[in-house]
Amino acid sequence: MKNYIIFGPPGAGKGSQAVILSKKYNLKHISTGDILREEIKNGTKLGIKVKSLMDQGVLVGDEIIMEIIESVIDHSGSYSGFLYDGFPRTLTQLTALDQMLKRHNLKIDAVISLVVDEDILIKRMLRRAEIEGRADDADIEVVKKRIETYRAQTEPLIEIFEKRDGYFSLEGNTTIENNFNEICKIIENL
Ligand code: ADP
Repeated sequence: MKNYIIFGPPGAGKGSQAVILSKKYNLKHISTGDILREEIKNGTKLGIKVKSLMDQGVLVGDEIIMEIIESVIDHSGSYSGFLYDGFPRTLTQLTALDQMLKRHNLKIDAVISLVVDEDILIKRMLRRAEIEGRADDADIEVVKKRIETYRAQTEPLIEIFEKRDGYFSLEGNTTIENNFNEICKIIENL
């Protein structure tokens, strides 16, 4: 089982890449954001708990996220691996993921990081709000808060990834297709 992380700020295009990559390489796409939004939509206890945090553009607690990850990983089916999208987002989550994989004799095989200018991120999210109707995309203050949260809590993980094998940084200010082709080359050369 391969374990790949697609990394980057909100609006970088992680989700778009994850969908097509997981299809091409038979990976289980694990988007913690999608899972949480589904919980909210279904009005579950968990959904009710996380809604206001997501609406504010701040992170949901690490424990909640790790419970989600553990339960998804246990149902891996016939996939060739996992593609994590929007996870890990904190040092605690990364440490927990490393430990969990180690218990299964697995490791993070690659981290693909999308780098996109801030003004483009903001424009993309505001445009996405019109298409997907996500409340956290529609409000510029929430969009800015999410980028701020990324800079403070998630971006520092890059320093750790850079010291390991399998870290790849890509210019994300291009088309979905260009990024996809670049990422496919990386995966096939691993
Ligand atoms: P984006 O990357 O565009 O911000 P996501 O769908 O990945 O969108 O995340 C939406 C929201 O869900 C985040 O702002 C956060 O509140 C919550 N969330 C998603 N993944 C995590 C995670 N790994 N840790 C903590 N909170 C998360």
